[in-house]
Amino acid sequence: MVKQDKIFKELLIRHKKSIGRLGSRIDLKRGEPTSFLGYIRKQSMKLALYYADFKCESCAKDKTLTIHHMVRRDNRKFVMFCKYLASRYYFFNIAILCSKCHNKVDGITGVPEGRMVLSKAKIKEIQRYFRIHQNAKKQVL
Ligand SMILES: [Zn+2]
Repeated sequence: MVKQDKIFKELLIRHKKSIGRLGSRIDLKRGEPTSFLGYIRKQSMKLALYYADFKCESCAKDKTLTIHHMVRRDNRKFVMFCKYLASRYYFFNIAILCSKCHNKVDGITGVPEGRMVLSKAKIKEIQRYFRIHQNAKKQVL
């Protein structure tokens, strides 16, 4: 667990740097495809899932997990696009919710957002990410 936390911290440092760079991209336009954004999305998904212990943060079920952005899409109207993206994709503004709890939250906060249930393969891949690095570090020692 301790070594996994180290991986988490290292990834978090990279993530914060990426978010910082994204937040200063004042040239960024809506709809502009950036591989950089895909990279940041993956970082935040990994961190959020690990932080949530791969369970729904509301009911603790580990099935039909989805990503809930606490910074809603409507917010982009009010802030500079790069700032909106940076806050939306910062891992701490992402909650891991099962689809049932996600529906409840959307019912309270208004219009449902498009969402995808994370596949078991994706979750396994991220769980492996934390373990693979742990094993790699063991071999060095
Ligand atoms: Zn739930």
